Amino acid sequence: MSTDLVLILNAASFAADKHRQQRRKDADASPYINHPLALADILAREGGVEDATVIAAALLHDTVEDTETSIDEIETRFGKRVASIVAEVTDDKSLPKEERKRLQVVKSASKSLEAKVVKLADKTANLRDLLATPPADWSAERRASYFEWAREVVAGLRGTNASLEAAFDEAYSRGIGVAHSQMQGGLPTLPDQPTTP
Ligand code: NDP
Ligand code: ZN
Repeated sequence: MSTDLVLILNAASFAADKHRQQRRKDADASPYINHPLALADILAREGGVEDATVIAAALLHDTVEDTETSIDEIETRFGKRVASIVAEVTDDKSLPKEERKRLQVVKSASKSLEAKVVKLADKTANLRDLLATPPADWSAERRASYFEWAREVVAGLRGTNASLEAAFDEAYSRGIGVAHSQMQGGLPTLPDQPTTP
């Protein structure tokens, strides 16, 4: 078996084990591992990404942030390159949530190309989840607010992978349209346009 395939299978297996007690926030509480697998699928099939290091990092991208896993553990098992990408896409959980969200926006442009494609796939996967299987207790306003924040983060990731950016844009357009149409009063009203004589 190729070393690339071994790396990817080991990363999928490690992530499945680490996330085994976690569920997504959708109404069915889907197994968490579906999300890292979705990123790997988006990167490989929609983004044309062939670098096994990036696919492995995508599979592992939420292990340090959301489970008892350290970057050292990732480095020991999967090597420095994978660990470095995972570290770049991991928020500092000691900071307040709003600050973490602000930092994602201001830091996205300075990430490595590898981290940028993982973040593009992450945001696209989350927008698709919010559209297809949203958390039961999220209002349309909250979904719209998440979509807008994701768009601000992605603004700093552009110029990296045209297919992934198009996939994000498509998810954004569909999702924001649905959220706005579900908000009380429908679409936000636009200022009146001057009429041409
Ligand atoms: P959260 O951070 O609470 O939830 C979004 C995160 O949850 C995603 O980034 C994703 O992270 C993970 N996730 C798990 N399941 C799903 C799923 N089915 N679909 C999508 N993502 C999932 O959201 P926010 O706090 O950002 O809330 C969204 C907006 O609503 C914000 O603008 C906020 O200001 C506003 N708001 C927040 C409230 C709050 O209590 N926090 C209350 C009201 C409004 P990962 O990729 O890491 O899995
Ligand atoms: Zn994620």
